[in-house]
Amino acid sequence: MSGVRMKIRVLGCDGGLGGERRTVSLRVDDDILIDAGSGAGDLALDEIVRIDHIFLTHSHLDHIALLPMLIDAAAEYRSKPVTVHALPETIVALRECVFDGRLWPDYSAIPSPDAPYFRYSPIAVGTPVTFGERRITPLPARHSVPGVGYQMDSGSAAFVYSGDTTLDERFWAALNRIPELKHLMIECTFLDAHAAIAERSGHMTPALLALGLQRLEKPAEVLIAHMESGREEAMLAEIASHVRGRPFRRLLRGEIFEL
Ligand SMILES: [Zn+2]
Ligand SMILES: [Zn+2]
Repeated sequence: MSGVRMKIRVLGCDGGLGGERRTVSLRVDDDILIDAGSGAGDLALDEIVRIDHIFLTHSHLDHIALLPMLIDAAAEYRSKPVTVHALPETIVALRECVFDGRLWPDYSAIPSPDAPYFRYSPIAVGTPVTFGERRITPLPARHSVPGVGYQMDSGSAAFVYSGDTTLDERFWAALNRIPELKHLMIECTFLDAHAAIAERSGHMTPALLALGLQRLEKPAEVLIAHMESGREEAMLAEIASHVRGRPFRRLLRGEIFEL
C-alpha cells in the first residue's frame, strides 16, 4: 500500500459537559474536522484557520455548537470558503435555525454570495468524499434526526466514528465491508435502565452495543464514546457485563490515531 498516512486527533468525545469533558470533534490531519462540538474550542487560532472542510454527523447542538464561531474566527484570515459537508436535512436545519440572521449571520452569503466564508456541500450515505488518497465516507445511522457516521480511510487503514445512533443493522453490515477497519469509535449514551429513553432518542445502551458487536466480524479496536456525563464508570461496567471476548476501552480526549 502507499505510504500516505492520516492522523486523527480526538478533540472531544463526551456525551455532555462538566469539567474536562468536551463534546465530539475530531481533527483529521490539519485540514478536516469531523463534528464541531465543544472539543473544537481547544484548537489554536492558526489551527482553526487551516481547517478547509468540516463534516457534520447531524444537526444536534452537541455536534455543531462551535461551527458558527469557528467560521467566524477563521473568516478574516482565509482566502477561500470553508466547506461544510452534511446531509441535506442537516443543511436545512443549519440554514433555518443557526445561520438564520438572528442566532448568527448567514456566513454562506457573507461577505458576498460569490465569495462567502463557508459553503454547504450535501453528502449521501455510501458516497465517499476524497482528498487525494484520503477518503471520508458517510455511513448509515439511526437517530432521532437524520444522521450519519463516518469512515475515514488513509489509503491503508480505516477509522470509523458511529455518530449518534441506536442499533442499526445497516451500520454493522457496512463495517463488515471495510477491508482495513482498525478503530471503531462507537457511541454508548445511556445505561440499560434508560433503554426506553435510548430507543426514543436514537442512542445506544450497553445491551444494544453488545448486540451490535456480535455482528462485527472485524478485529477492530473498540473505543467507547459519547457517554452521559457522570455515568462513565457505570457505563463501562455495564458494557463489561454484556460484552464477552471483545476488548473495548474508553476513548479519551487528546488521543491521536495514525493510519
Ligand atoms: Zn444527537
Ligand atoms: Zn450527540
